[in-house]
Amino acid sequence: MKHASTTGADAVTHAPATEALYDAEVLIIGSGAGGATTAALLAEAGFDVLIVEEGDWVEQGTVVPFSLDQMNRQYRSGGVTVALGLPSIAYTEGRCAGGGTEVNSGLYRRPPAELLDRWRTQYHIRDLDPDEMYAIAEEVETALNVTPVPGAVSPASTVLQRGADALHWQNSESPRWMKYPAGGSAASGQRQSMTRTYLPRAQRAGARLLTQCRVRRLSINGTRASDAEVVLADGSPGRIRFRHVFVCGGAIHTPALLQRSGLRERIGDTLAVHPTVKLAARFPDPINMPDDVPVHQVKEFAPEISFGGSASNPGLVALSLADNWGQFSHALQDWERVCVYYAAITSEGKGRVKAIPGLRDPLVTYHLTARDRQMLRSGLSRLALLMLAAGADEVYPSYHHAPIVRSTADIAELQRSFATTKATVMTVHLCSTVPLGEHPRCAADSFGQVRGMKNVWVNDASMLPDAPGVNPQGSVMAFAVRNARRFIGTERPRG
Ligand SMILES: Cc1cc2nc3c(=O)[nH]c(=O)nc-3n(C[C@H](O)[C@H](O)[C@H](O)COP(=O)(O)OP(=O)(O)OC[C@H]3O[C@@H](n4cnc5c(N)ncnc54)[C@H](O)[C@@H]3O)c2cc1C
Repeated sequence: MKHASTTGADAVTHAPATEALYDAEVLIIGSGAGGATTAALLAEAGFDVLIVEEGDWVEQGTVVPFSLDQMNRQYRSGGVTVALGLPSIAYTEGRCAGGGTEVNSGLYRRPPAELLDRWRTQYHIRDLDPDEMYAIAEEVETALNVTPVPGAVSPASTVLQRGADALHWQNSESPRWMKYPAGGSAASGQRQSMTRTYLPRAQRAGARLLTQCRVRRLSINGTRASDAEVVLADGSPGRIRFRHVFVCGGAIHTPALLQRSGLRERIGDTLAVHPTVKLAARFPDPINMPDDVPVHQVKEFAPEISFGGSASNPGLVALSLADNWGQFSHALQDWERVCVYYAAITSEGKGRVKAIPGLRDPLVTYHLTARDRQMLRSGLSRLALLMLAAGADEVYPSYHHAPIVRSTADIAELQRSFATTKATVMTVHLCSTVPLGEHPRCAADSFGQVRGMKNVWVNDASMLPDAPGVNPQGSVMAFAVRNARRFIGTERPRG
């Protein structure tokens, strides 16, 4: 019998070449926003918890944010993955201890009250109480130190505020999960990701964490899963026996794992994302802070369309100019005056995740509706207008054969020539592949228990009924805490 470390990342043990065997009362697969939160609550309630994570533990500060090194060590497939469709949508996922929370922008939004109300009625979510959800949100905000930037926001963020104010569009600063030193500024924050918060908390309560361990499939007999087949860091096989399992591998890998384990009913058929288009904008003065992201968001047309800023180191600026490199490349020389901004939409379309026998990664597809395509066109045009209103001298929309926008007259040309099939459509918000609720289309019950299974739960972005229209991590964590508490209220630790 092998036991993983109880003391932290450095001391995690890995198994020998013969099949290693682990035992856990509760196995949690994935250590991101959903998995880490679930692990902390269950361990603190006295359950014997083992968390397994496919990626490695990467200490903050040992990689440069948004660098190629970070892409290799903390992102799945180096950050390059795609949902096939017309157009295809490029997406990005974290793959490391802490999952997406280690690499994301850290912008926090609570699930809006109208959203909770719509989800409760449309998906028949039992006992979804907004007061309880907001009490949990407050708890999470305290645990993550969700806070506005101390002092002045970055110049790239001020751009959004200035442009929106000029157009009388609603905008606000999104707080982040950050700790700033006394007298600190926008660039001095320490991200309060899962490796800084819920994972150490889970470990202090006795949870074990096994990194670089990928779960291949669960063995299922009737209505119960009994053990997980895993591949360890050195490629050797292992097996984990458990009483309960929470699958928290994120919205792509949770449904893929369930399908590989033989659970297919309504699983993976309802992928929802926030499709996003981008542009780069050049201003008369320097605005670019390579390690930072703008914190202002423009919500005048939300939840249908939201605007914000992206990470903009020189490599990412180059990437956003690449669709029209011949005409746009000169802007790279001025990268300190250039930043990348986005328009994200709430999509009517849906995608699919399908595990393919023999392949490690699932096939992911996404279908944008005609309305989605129209919203992306409209979003990009309005974003260009926002940039001009903020004082941009040149705007470079990210699609093939796009014009340089210098005046409102050029926006008409943008609208005429834009097509989603020519654009780089991407997303970092993936959810809803195992939606919860009592509605027949939901693959899990109101608290994330997979239909037909007595001891299998999902508790990550997969369970959100559809795309929230706001940054999702706050919603993922609030539901994860709610569901973990329900589990604690109905199951007893073995003791
Ligand atoms: C670049 C980027 C920027 C973002 N910015 C924001 C933002 O500013 N605000 C916001 O609210 N949200 C943001 N998000 C989204 C947010 O990070 C996610 O919504 C959130 O992390 C989802 O949590 P999760 O638990 O579902 O999955 P994740 O956090 O992705 O965690 C899943 C973990 O499971 C592991 N795993 C998967 N399969 C297996 C397996 N078979 N065996 C073992 N381990 C497995 C993965 O390696 C991963 O570490 C961003 C995401 C990205 C990628």
